[in-house]
Amino acid sequence: MIKIKNLSCGYNKIAVVDNISTDISECSFIGIIGKNGAGKTTLLKSLSGLLKPYSGNIFINGTDIYKMKRNLLAKKLSFLPQNMPIDFPFIVKDFIMFGRFPHMNFFKYALKEDYKKIEEIMDFTETKEFAERSILELSGGERQKVLIAQTLAQETDIIAFDEPTSHLDIGSQSSIFRLLRILNIEHKKTIITTIHDLNAAGEFCSNLILMDKGTIFKSGTPTEVLNYKDIETVYNTTVVVKTNPVSNKPVVIPVFSDNK
Ligand code: ADP
Repeated sequence: MIKIKNLSCGYNKIAVVDNISTDISECSFIGIIGKNGAGKTTLLKSLSGLLKPYSGNIFINGTDIYKMKRNLLAKKLSFLPQNMPIDFPFIVKDFIMFGRFPHMNFFKYALKEDYKKIEEIMDFTETKEFAERSILELSGGERQKVLIAQTLAQETDIIAFDEPTSHLDIGSQSSIFRLLRILNIEHKKTIITTIHDLNAAGEFCSNLILMDKGTIFKSGTPTEVLNYKDIETVYNTTVVVKTNPVSNKPVVIPVFSDNK
């Protein structure tokens, strides 16, 4: 469904993503992993239509996204950036409604069906209890759920997240990832996310793309990608990889020693 073909992109004419090609199939849950500076966010931005490639193409169902009208792309793919700065005291339900923008009529006012959709999304994301509060009053985990709710209000089949759980405690992290899993499995959304936590990547993602220095070092299922040799090579640190006896998914344990 998504085809990335010989993609190079970056900043100030310097490519930080270098000639990447990969396919992402419908309803998959893709984790983009790799060290800081590997080019994960840059790849995600380009994939989301926000950073024009220097060369190569990104196709959704055969159409180059950089040749699509913005409004059409906004109905196919939504993107939640990392650490989105918000300094205005938006009321949560209004803030979520902004996500409906691409679906609204020429005059951009909300109709009955938009309110209905927002209600459903607030139920699903468990954000209804703070619907009337200012977004600035919420905890990090609550705020992130509101941001996800706004992204869902865009109602796209593909959703891209940049580090959706950064700075959250493990309880909030796990509740966000469970939400993404339901979106993926029950709502058939294609999820593409950058992710630092290799254990969450192993547990929740159907496929991983391990990036190194702007290229794809390896891609495949979590079991294929999260092996100690490849992880040690890319991250330059010692790890032990075990298998979660319940889910059968790989668990990566960093071994902090003096050697590396
Ligand atoms: P990752 O998400 O893997 O940590 P990024 O895609 O954020 O990596 O960054 C890849 C490289 O691009 C880094 O060297 C970073 O300094 C550089 N970079 C990221 N954003 C910008 C920007 N807006 N302008 C210039 N260089 C940038």
